[in-house]
Amino acid sequence: MKHFISFLLIVSMVSCQQEIPVNEPAIIPLPVSLKQNPGSFSLNKNTRIVASAESMPAAEFLRDFIQKGTGLELKISEKEKSNAIIFSLVEPGKDSVSDPEGYSLISTSKKVRITAISPAGLLYGAQTLRQLFPPEIEGAGPHPEIQWAVPLVEIYDQPAFRWRGMMLDCVRHFFPVSHVKHLLDQIAALKMNHFHWHLVDDQGWRIEILKYPELTKTSAWRVDREDLPWGERPSQKAGEEATYGGFYTQDEIREVVAYAAKLNIEIIPEIEMPAHVSCVFASYPELSCTGKKITVPPGGVWPITDIYCAGNDSVFAFLENVLSEVAGLFPSKYIHVGGDEATKTEWKKCPKCQARIKKEGLKNEQELQSYFMSRIEKFLNSKGKNLIGWDEILEGGLAPQATVMSWRGFEGGIEAAGAGHDVVMSPTSYCYFDYYQGPKESEPLAIGGFLPLSKVYQFNPVPAELKAENIKHILGGQANLWTEFIPTPEHSEYMLFPRLDAMAEDLWTPLKNKNYDDFLKRLQIQFERYDFAGVNYSKNIY
Ligand SMILES: [Zn+2]
Repeated sequence: MKHFISFLLIVSMVSCQQEIPVNEPAIIPLPVSLKQNPGSFSLNKNTRIVASAESMPAAEFLRDFIQKGTGLELKISEKEKSNAIIFSLVEPGKDSVSDPEGYSLISTSKKVRITAISPAGLLYGAQTLRQLFPPEIEGAGPHPEIQWAVPLVEIYDQPAFRWRGMMLDCVRHFFPVSHVKHLLDQIAALKMNHFHWHLVDDQGWRIEILKYPELTKTSAWRVDREDLPWGERPSQKAGEEATYGGFYTQDEIREVVAYAAKLNIEIIPEIEMPAHVSCVFASYPELSCTGKKITVPPGGVWPITDIYCAGNDSVFAFLENVLSEVAGLFPSKYIHVGGDEATKTEWKKCPKCQARIKKEGLKNEQELQSYFMSRIEKFLNSKGKNLIGWDEILEGGLAPQATVMSWRGFEGGIEAAGAGHDVVMSPTSYCYFDYYQGPKESEPLAIGGFLPLSKVYQFNPVPAELKAENIKHILGGQANLWTEFIPTPEHSEYMLFPRLDAMAEDLWTPLKNKNYDDFLKRLQIQFERYDFAGVNYSKNIY
């Protein structure tokens, strides 16, 4: 698609530069305010990037991005000059920028100036500038035939929500570090700032824990039944080898965390409990109520009755040791502890669990789960971390400081916010990207459901029923990609994009500025960018 001609503007009346065709801005997520002026700013080999030590991360990001896409090796200097892209950190309130993630971007034919009060804002200014260039810049350069010009604009921008998240399930299918980084690049381009990394579930343990080597030697691997439907996979038989799976070493985790930090993305690890941990009992069967050794399930497990014993103090010792290592690896404020879908059949039968209920004066097994979560929360708090969990952690009483990720609808989030807890909205109805995005007959096999792009675009993390005084507890929203039916990196991209583009706009752009038709128009250009960036997006809206 040739969009170049769509918005031919004449470069300034005063200079003797040639006319350079530039694109109409097609920025996703849409900025708060954008005014386009006639003319353009062009890169050439003499263009400088101007930055101080504090603004260096954004400057280096842009320099590397431009070099990869254009072949131009721009120098970074401290001294301001003409023919420059200038990163400017200012005191809050100056240049109409007050939000820590906000920025302004003002371009003239001689300069592009990006202003913010924090390095994160400068980075988002750079991400916006990235989208003002021709889409070819997303690929590997050089492209000597292209004039790297951007339209002249005045942009003032800041996010609607603090938590703009995406979750990737790396358990049901394992994805290599290279793919995680590739996704982080794209998430960052959409100005999303939380990556929730699902590292533990029934079908595998994906994070190296030095104190418990069996978790990655045994629990990370399952028998290969990839040729059978997810829900119909027989357990590992005697003599069969567990060859399917994988895990991230602690060095790899540190590498990904550092990579994400440069992109203003906080990574929240999810270490599930008390359920979704069948794989643990392949290594440490003594941590379940029955003590029965099981093999790592190669497919679906339902209902989930093999769960940690809540009456056994060794379970808490194990989890505290695990969480200590996890807390040391992830600088995030939060650690996600799951808490979902624990069927308490064994807790009802287990003498240790029943003794705990009696000793602690709990009413039932729901309150036992609440005891479990509160005890873990206390430990996490002692490590300087906050607990976040799925909305089931409301049942039996919420841990005192817990943040709730509301997935079964908005109700859990409304209840938690009403009780003064922070909430991330992630209801299946708008946020579950493992659902079909088009008619089943034209789509690869998915888990079910139906969540087309147009519906994702209607997501608002603040439901109408929420009382005004509780709105402040809604941190934002998050798209979740569970991967039972998603075996490859390419397939994961197909499910994520462009629905993630819509989610990014839901969470960044003020509600009153959103317009689906306009979004679709900008998406045409975004698809060209994805073509050059090697992102396998879905074309099913055509
Ligand atoms: Zn028990």
